[in-house]
Amino acid sequence: MDDVVIIGGGIIGASSAYFLSKAGRKVKVIERDPTYKKASFPLSLGGFRRQFFQKENILLGKFAKDFIFQIPELLKTEKNPNPTASMVPNGYLLLFGPEHAKEQYEALKNHKACDAGTKNIKGEELSKVFPYVSSDGIETATYTDSKIEGWIDPYLFHNALKSKAIELGAKFIKGEIKSIKEINAKTIISAAGCWTNELLSDIPVVPQKHTVFRVKCPKHIPEMPLTGDLTTGVYWRPEGNEYLAGSPISKFDAEDLEPEWNDFEELVWPALAKRIPAFEELKLTGGWAGYYDCNKLDNNAVVGKHPKYDNLFMATGFTGRGLMQAPGIGRALTELITTGSYQSIDLSCFAIERVLENNKRPEPYVL
Ligand SMILES: Cc1cc2nc3c(=O)[nH]c(=O)nc-3n(C[C@H](O)[C@H](O)[C@H](O)COP(=O)(O)OP(=O)(O)OC[C@H]3O[C@@H](n4cnc5c(N)ncnc54)[C@H](O)[C@@H]3O)c2cc1C
Repeated sequence: MDDVVIIGGGIIGASSAYFLSKAGRKVKVIERDPTYKKASFPLSLGGFRRQFFQKENILLGKFAKDFIFQIPELLKTEKNPNPTASMVPNGYLLLFGPEHAKEQYEALKNHKACDAGTKNIKGEELSKVFPYVSSDGIETATYTDSKIEGWIDPYLFHNALKSKAIELGAKFIKGEIKSIKEINAKTIISAAGCWTNELLSDIPVVPQKHTVFRVKCPKHIPEMPLTGDLTTGVYWRPEGNEYLAGSPISKFDAEDLEPEWNDFEELVWPALAKRIPAFEELKLTGGWAGYYDCNKLDNNAVVGKHPKYDNLFMATGFTGRGLMQAPGIGRALTELITTGSYQSIDLSCFAIERVLENNKRPEPYVL
C-alpha cells in the first residue's frame, strides 16, 4: 500500500507533493501528460493578488506573496541552487464602475480586517496615480504599490516546486487514473484540475475555455500593474516589451483550445483602447487559450476531505486563481492530512460538503 498518491501533477499536485514530502510523507504523483500541454497552469497569466472579496481568498493571496518571495531559500535544490519564478511585483489595479462600487466598498472592509495593504481611490483621482489610465465611467479603484502583488512565470514556479518535492523524496510517475478505486493508498489527493468531474461526478468543476491575446504597442509602460477593468471584464499586464490581455468571454464544452480570435476586434481591443488611450495603436501579435478549473456552483475553491470516502482529499475549482493559491492549498491539505485540522488559514468554508449540499459561497472577483 502506498502512503500518499496524488492524482495530477499540475501546480496543485506539485505544491501538495512539496508540502507533504517536507512533512515526511512518502508521495507518489500520477500525471497522465508530463508535457502539461493542456494543463491550466502553464497557460495561465501567473498573477498573484490579495484583492478578493472573501477573507480566505485574501489570506491565500497574502501567503502566495510570502511564499513566492521565499522561493530562493525554500525551493533550492542541489541541482538548482538558484530557483526563480521570475517575479514581477508591479501590483494589481482593479477598476470599478458605479454598478460594482458598493460591493467593492464591502470587500475593502475584508481587506482591512486581513491587513491586505491595498489602497483605494475615487475614479477622479485615478489619473494622478496612473496618468495613462482613463477614468471614464470609473467610480472607484483599488491597487497596491508596495510589491505585494504581481505575476510570476508559472512554468518556472511549477518546475521549482516539483524539483524540490523530488529532492524531498516524492516520485512523479506517468500514468492515467481512470477511477479512484484503482488506487491503494493510505491517503489519496485528487488534484485533477478542470478534469475533476471525470473522476468525481458529484463535483461540478469543469473546463472553461479562456482566451489570452498578446499585443504590441508603440508606447511601452513597463511599470503598469496587472489591471482588471470590472466595467468590461477585460484584464491585461505587460509581458516583456509587449502586453497580454484576457478576453472576458469564456466557453464551456469547448472542443479545442483554439483562441477565440473574434473576441479581439469585437471586445478586447475596444475595451483596452477606451481605458488606456495609448492602446489605440496596438497590434495583435499572438494568443492562446487555456482552461479554468471552473466551479460551476459558485466560482470558488473546493478543498478538503471528501465525505463519501475514508481517505480521499481534494483541491480544485479555483476558477482563475489556482496558481497563486497553490502554496496555501498545498500547506492546508498537508495540515489537514497530518493533524486532522487546518492550522494556518481555516479553509473549512471551501469544504466539499458545501458543494454536495448546493451551498453557494460566490467569489465575485474572477478575472
Ligand atoms: C488563461 C488563463 C489565465 C489564468 N491566470 C491565472 C492567474 O493569473 N493567476 C492564477 O492564480 N491562476 C490563473 N489561472 C488559473 C490556474 O492556471 C489554475 O487554477 C491552476 O492551474 C489549477 O491548477 P491544477 O493543478 O488544479 O490544474 P492543472 O494545472 O490543470 O493540473 C492538473 C493536472 O492533472 C492531470 N490529470 C487530470 N486528470 C488526471 C487523471 N485522471 N490521471 C492523471 N493525471 C490527471 C492533468 O493532465 C494536469 O496536468 C489561469 C488559467 C488560465 C487558463
